[in-house]
Amino acid sequence: MLSLFSMENKTTAIIIGSGVGGLALSIRLACAGFAVTVLEKNGFPGGKLSQVSAGGYRFDAGPSLFTMPQLVDELFTLCGENARDHFSYSRLHTVCRYFFPSGRQADSFSDAGRFASELENKLGEPRQNVLRYLRESRKKWELTADVFVFSDFSNPGTFASKAFLKGLAGLHRLHVFETMHGYHTRRFATPEAVQLFDRYATYNGSDPYRVPATLSVIPHLEYGIGAYLPDNGMIGITDALFALAKRQGVEFRFGEAAAAITHHAGEVTGVKTGRGTYPSRLVVSNADAAPTYRHLLGDEAAFGREAGKERSTSALVFNWGMKGAFPELSIHNIFFSGNYEAEFRALFHTKTFYADATVYVFIGSRHIPSDAPPGCENWFVMVNVPENVGQDWDAVVSEARAAVIKKISARLGKDIVPYIETEIVEDPRWIEARTSAWHGSLYGPAGNGRFSAFLRHANRSSKYRGLYFTGGSVHPGGGIPMCLASAKITSDIIKKDTDGRNK
Ligand code: FAD
Repeated sequence: MLSLFSMENKTTAIIIGSGVGGLALSIRLACAGFAVTVLEKNGFPGGKLSQVSAGGYRFDAGPSLFTMPQLVDELFTLCGENARDHFSYSRLHTVCRYFFPSGRQADSFSDAGRFASELENKLGEPRQNVLRYLRESRKKWELTADVFVFSDFSNPGTFASKAFLKGLAGLHRLHVFETMHGYHTRRFATPEAVQLFDRYATYNGSDPYRVPATLSVIPHLEYGIGAYLPDNGMIGITDALFALAKRQGVEFRFGEAAAAITHHAGEVTGVKTGRGTYPSRLVVSNADAAPTYRHLLGDEAAFGREAGKERSTSALVFNWGMKGAFPELSIHNIFFSGNYEAEFRALFHTKTFYADATVYVFIGSRHIPSDAPPGCENWFVMVNVPENVGQDWDAVVSEARAAVIKKISARLGKDIVPYIETEIVEDPRWIEARTSAWHGSLYGPAGNGRFSAFLRHANRSSKYRGLYFTGGSVHPGGGIPMCLASAKITSDIIKKDTDGRNK
């Protein structure tokens, strides 16, 4: 049994889960003088940001695109370390290769001018349209980031802040009252450019035909702030943060699932696991909020409120070890579907697999050659699929596998099957079991509604004193940068709530 205070008389904090949000929060709290213990049901850290390997190939199991690396660097600075001594990454100059159903093909580049020229030359999209759009995207970021990404929504003061009032004054530039697709249709002349930019709604698992055009802020992260890849692969983020947390004295208990969050008279008293009890008046769940309420608190009313929110998409991933090299492909590649609207109807309305699904191929070994044997490539092949509501996933996996092979083979003009020498499949059941993501959704609740951002679960519980949340299912949202921002918000709230009583 642990006492409420550690040996050094610091306040104890228990974090349930070592996803990127949990890791970042553990570092922030340890730095602020708390005695932090992280309980992790898996035998490894990282949650969705982890890896799998087979037959000499290594694959990043979840995220493959890294934006806003400064949020990782900031954690090292906070601890008085130089991030570059422990964690390195490179900016991608060619970000993604797009294959359109029309037969056209175009690359996106980090350099906005070059990207705009590429879309003009390859698609016939006037250069000025792209440059104007990216300028508007940057403006949206400047108007919204301080409020929507970096502020505590449970604090009424946020809505009276200078940053909020600035956003309000620029409301007409946020395009809140039209859909992302509608806005893109107005901004671009070619269906290919519309489809390319509509895709950014999937960066938080949403539907471009419903999501407010405010979300057209996302391309700014990629083209303005930049698309990156850690030099050891995406797992490098987890490894670097885990090592930093340990240097800060965070204690990790792997293979130890939280079974219950205990509470008395509305106040949290600790966490129970199969191995014992951890008394603490400060508990943070980095697990999805919905299962936290159901499985750890037995609070069906709060669970119902969370589970009732529309979920973001899940994914079906084929990690293929490819015996051969494919110079026709870039590091990130997209093979678009012929009818994007029908694809999103299947994802969000009928909750079925769309036979002509858009296929994403990420080849990490282009940046990290040791991820595949010489002359070979590690393909992370992903299609978006609906949340898991009990579909026959075995049938979906075999249908999707055939469809994906057909689409890529047709486009490359050769059968890719003989090249596949290892395969690891991730489906929504796998993602849910491995990370606790409710229904296997990648980004928690979807952002489709105009008010979705305001409806996400807060970082502090309004019902249980001493209970906090961090990570992709709560404010400000899913994806690595949002989870890192979430950890910062949660840490600031905890520090304020404990008012320096951590030492
Ligand atoms: P999670 O990763 O959700 O981890 C939660 C942790 O809690 C897990 O380790 C779990 O084991 C643990 N846990 C749960 N319950 C318990 C319990 N009872 N006791 C103990 N431990 C528990 N984001 C991007 O930025 N870019 C991308 O390109 C991208 N692509 C993605 C592709 C895929 C296939 C997936 C799955 C995700 C992708 N994402 C991407 C989203 C991103 O991975 C997530 O938003 C982020 O990693 C979630 O971090 P988190 O802090 O919410 O914790």
